[in-house]
Amino acid sequence: MKSLICGGTIVSPLGKTRADLLIDGEKIAAIGDLAGSEEAAGATCIDASGKLIFPGIIDAHTHYHLESRGTVTADSFFEGSRAAAFGGVTTVIDFADQEAGKRLQESSSERIAAMREGMACDFALHQSVYTVHDGIEKELQHLKALGVTTVKIFTTYKREGYLIDESGLRRLFEACRDLQMMVSVHAEDDDMIEELEAEYEGRPLPPSMHPVLRPSESEYRAIKKIGELAHSVSMPIYIVHLSSSRGYDAVCELKGKGVRMMIETTPHYLLLDNDLLSRPEAQKYIMTPPLRRPEDNAALWKGLEAGNIDIIATDHCSFTREQKMASDSVLTILPGIPGSEELLPLVHTEGVGKGRISLERMVSLLSEMPAKAFGLYPRKGLIAEGSDADLVIFDPEKEVVLTDERQHTAAGYTPYNGWKVKGMVEATIFRGTLIVSDGIYHGKAGSGQFLAAGLPELYRRG
Ligand SMILES: [Zn+2]
Repeated sequence: MKSLICGGTIVSPLGKTRADLLIDGEKIAAIGDLAGSEEAAGATCIDASGKLIFPGIIDAHTHYHLESRGTVTADSFFEGSRAAAFGGVTTVIDFADQEAGKRLQESSSERIAAMREGMACDFALHQSVYTVHDGIEKELQHLKALGVTTVKIFTTYKREGYLIDESGLRRLFEACRDLQMMVSVHAEDDDMIEELEAEYEGRPLPPSMHPVLRPSESEYRAIKKIGELAHSVSMPIYIVHLSSSRGYDAVCELKGKGVRMMIETTPHYLLLDNDLLSRPEAQKYIMTPPLRRPEDNAALWKGLEAGNIDIIATDHCSFTREQKMASDSVLTILPGIPGSEELLPLVHTEGVGKGRISLERMVSLLSEMPAKAFGLYPRKGLIAEGSDADLVIFDPEKEVVLTDERQHTAAGYTPYNGWKVKGMVEATIFRGTLIVSDGIYHGKAGSGQFLAAGLPELYRRG
């Protein structure tokens, strides 16, 4: 089964090319002036005149169907990946919890099995690690053999049992370094947060208190500490969802000392600020770390422009409005917001449209770099012969207002309700199959495959 995408402009991190694109089965078979050619004979034609073609978007940070705090997030694996497809996302990287009494590879295997049933786009996995115990080195080896080459740690949530002490971290880092596995870090300083929580104990803690209890200074301290520890054992480090100007200061200081790092931020830390936390239904904007100030948004854009931030992902972790509104204390409001579907249109509008980043850079931030960072390249993240035919046909001129009703997440709301975007997905092609066209979804649950990850980019660079 062949399809020919005609007349579009292919955008890669290196530039734009007017070319036709031949898909054979699930792969890209040829790129060039192919209309009327022998190899394209019999292909179904998809007209992309006047449109841009991107490699499928990779959301490197999602939590679909997350069981947490006695409940489960709104988007199932299928619903999460369906919403994502409307935003041009064809691959996500999700997380497995470290489950008590199970080996790491068992936690990952079970998550992969569950995801295979429901996912409608391809997926890789990060494995969370909360405790370092005897035999962990062996478990990490099994994990790597399974195709999970990133572990995620927290520098906070001691009370929830997620915090690993320094000697444990050192042991984990050394094992990951020896196996060439990536460590990704949720960076907030727990001591600082605990002190603040003690100081405010007994007082009401409405949403506006969230940034007070989890200040950007705690992100600075945690990134510094973890970056220095990683450097001392000669291993690279990946920081998830960088949220603040102070956090960015820590990144620059560490990079200045030669620490090898990759940095991820999210649309909400670039575009939303803590003014929302004093408005009605502020609970809908609670996630961790909290929203910061407009100056922090600006610092993160500066980081992107300077090339010091490598990836934009979403931390999609959706709860329904009812779930979010069930509490008005920041200690118990369910943290997380939806975002996979909005990722591409928002970054296009606010990044490319406002002249902050080029179209080529956007493709790097949303597809090439996540594929490279987590060992999925060149099967993913690249438009080239032999790569998977994961493609977005994008209309850069189409204007749309994002609304709660228009978006497809099962959360029933979008944090970007009322935002005007310019540039919208016209079609999404997933491994050669058209799964979104003209606003209609054609994908199916269970069509997503687990992607065994190879060597992360930071080890490739040596
Ligand atoms: Zn997350």
